[in-house]
Amino acid sequence: MSLSNVVVVGASVAGLRAVETLRREGFGGNITLVSAEPHAPYDRPPLSKQILTGEIRPEQLLYRDISWFAEQRVELLLGTPASGLDINRSQVRIGEQWMQYDGLVIATGARAQQLEMGRSLAEIYTLRTIDDALAIKEKILPGIRVVIIGAGFIGSEVASSAAASGAQVTILESGKHAMSRAVGARLGHALGQLHGEFGVNLVCNARVAGFGGDDRVESVRLEDGWELPADIVVIGIGVLPNTEWLADSGLKLGDGLLCDETLNAGPDAVYAAGDVMAWPNEWWGGVMRGEQWLVAAEQGMHAAKNLLTGRAQARPFSTIPYFWTDQYGCRIQVAGRTDLGELVPLVGEETERPFLCAFRHDDRITGIFAINAPRAFAMLRSTLQQHRHFDTAIESVSKHLAAAE
Ligand code: NAP
Repeated sequence: MSLSNVVVVGASVAGLRAVETLRREGFGGNITLVSAEPHAPYDRPPLSKQILTGEIRPEQLLYRDISWFAEQRVELLLGTPASGLDINRSQVRIGEQWMQYDGLVIATGARAQQLEMGRSLAEIYTLRTIDDALAIKEKILPGIRVVIIGAGFIGSEVASSAAASGAQVTILESGKHAMSRAVGARLGHALGQLHGEFGVNLVCNARVAGFGGDDRVESVRLEDGWELPADIVVIGIGVLPNTEWLADSGLKLGDGLLCDETLNAGPDAVYAAGDVMAWPNEWWGGVMRGEQWLVAAEQGMHAAKNLLTGRAQARPFSTIPYFWTDQYGCRIQVAGRTDLGELVPLVGEETERPFLCAFRHDDRITGIFAINAPRAFAMLRSTLQQHRHFDTAIESVSKHLAAAE
């Protein structure tokens, strides 16, 4: 199939990597990149970290100078969310206009989940966009009382950044431990202790019942009656994939847009990438939705290549999930599956830094976790690719483990 008109919907890392790949692979036709946000594509990981602490300025987040899009003959539509898709006519609706495509990449990402309560009160924030981050940054000042709901990525990173700015921080987490969705209970418990060491009050098993205040939030009420004074509240309780605009499209929706192993969404020339979609990841052993920067970037490139190659030659996308988070000056890295098998400490114990451990399942290495051991982590991560026998994998990196101690 020869393409002449590709539309990429969503201009975060997955959509941008798709556009870059189309040009790099020699596609000479029209490319339109559609963004709901009014900003040119930018890097999100620093939003909850260096943007809040002021170490990075917003303009440093831009992946590409705006002139790059003109040079590459990419039409960049900003502040124009897609609102519908007609797969029979190969048209996507942008505002009130229908736009024709012969190739489509869907990369509309996810948005922060909200709480039903407190919607009318000022100073209650979620953090997903640069505008969210800048609004929060303006409020985080020495001595201000910040209450964070959720101790996942957003909650933990915002707590670390706010504490570094001299704010008084409390995190209310509904589960038993911090970060347990990402790393499980044992490592989540260890990461929870970091908060205490840096003066942040982490309250687990906390059930938020409502907010106090007339126009602006003044307190957070818990179900057990406890009322916690708050100058600002930041909610980080997870994300929802942006699939509503696809509701009448006939594409399969579940926890995200459901794609096949090649990232194809159903019609021959429709692919998807990033947080919006779920696909059968062979390495993982099941269907998953990524929610990770690296997975989104890789998927954007892969979707573009498969779109150009055509369905008959499309290759499956299989990846080993990887993420990092920076909290209180510690670099925390995770690769593979930490939900399978036995945790084997390799360097230190989980309350120490550096700490490195691997997960053993059926004598295979399935996952690794590190705090402040980046070199040893990188070596061990490469062994995951090869599905190594556990003992062989550890042996192959033993000198790096010794150096990390
Ligand atoms: P998250 O990492 O999924 O964590 C949400 C946390 O909030 C969980 O611990 C959850 O507990 C808790 N929670 C849920 N409902 C709650 C409630 N009503 N009250 C109190 N706690 C509640 O989600 P997130 O922190 O919002 O991050 C969103 C996404 O941003 C992530 O999926 C990730 O992709 C991205 N992100 C990544 C990074 C990074 O990679 N470094 C950094 C920032 C953001 P239960 O598990 O018990 O439900």
